[in-house]
Amino acid sequence: MAKIHELPVLLADQIAAGEVVERPASVVKELVENAVDANSTEINVNVESAGLKVIQVIDNGDGIAGDEVQTAFLRHATSKIAEQRDLFRVKTLGFRGEALPSINSVSDLTIETSTGDVGTQLQFKGGKLVSQGIAAPRKGTTVTVNQLFYNTPARLKYLKSPGTELSQITDVINRLAISYPQISFSFTSDGRELLRTAGRGQVDAVLGAIYGQKNLNKLVPITKENLEIQVTGYTSLPELTRASRKYMSLILNGRYIRNYQLSRAIVDGYGSKLMVGRYPISVINITVDPALVDVNVHPTKQEVRISNEQEIMTLISQAVDAAVSPQVRIPQADPVP
Ligand code: ADP
Ligand code: MG
Repeated sequence: MAKIHELPVLLADQIAAGEVVERPASVVKELVENAVDANSTEINVNVESAGLKVIQVIDNGDGIAGDEVQTAFLRHATSKIAEQRDLFRVKTLGFRGEALPSINSVSDLTIETSTGDVGTQLQFKGGKLVSQGIAAPRKGTTVTVNQLFYNTPARLKYLKSPGTELSQITDVINRLAISYPQISFSFTSDGRELLRTAGRGQVDAVLGAIYGQKNLNKLVPITKENLEIQVTGYTSLPELTRASRKYMSLILNGRYIRNYQLSRAIVDGYGSKLMVGRYPISVINITVDPALVDVNVHPTKQEVRISNEQEIMTLISQAVDAAVSPQVRIPQADPVP
């Protein structure tokens, strides 16, 4: 056996990147989540060649102070939690301090950021700092990721077709836009605008932008709560369905999650109204005490552990049932044009 030694930082970052940045869509997710955590009201995403050439996220959030920008690229460096008990009351989307160093280690990355004062620009190549300078004093952050995975050929090879990778990116942005209707999002791919939301806080307006204005009147609002849990959102009438479960979005305390049981609870709410193999378009916002949710289960944080899952399932089913049952359907105002 060879001697035991610690791995060089860059190699350790690349290994961590294997978990956090699986594909271009994961980079988009991490960068946009950082922009959300920084209190942005406007987030613009541009990609070229399905994210393999360029992924750029521009936000108007808090920015990073000049003397902290380099620290942000160190592994486990974060401004979001400080001590162990913070782990059980995480309100931000990030907290692991892994995204920036991971993405940085598998691309050529440039960051421009400013808190409103003189800004900072850093340029990296494969995780190594190659230049630093000043940037415009525009409050916010722009991260540009070039040539993703150029130095990890195995990862590059494992990617699907550009069309599939682009649709994964689109899914990520759509979910974030639905979760944060008060933020104005725009998404451009190879110069073509694929999404633009107004950021006025109306989920139905975001749904219209994503699923088409003509479908808006087939989406009904749902709401149900008890002392601990609040469930709100929209779900489609049985005449508007899809052949995939992926249009059922679950948002737990502002975080898009995947959870088979809760998705099943949506479907259960329809009783026998859905055809076999058909699923609704739904957005279910669940608000619970963060102490009841463990978000530190998986690096991408899409799988979470919820202590009162059964109770939430019941509320979701009841809320959906009430919304799609004709006798109690609440008369709806005309959809926003
Ligand atoms: P995490 O989000 O888990 O804290 P990241 O590696 O994604 O870790 O980011 C590290 C830190 O860099 C964040 O905690 C935050 O302080 C800062 N940061 C990253 N992106 C932005 C941004 N767009 N605006 C402001 N600060 C940012
Ligand atoms: Mg982050």
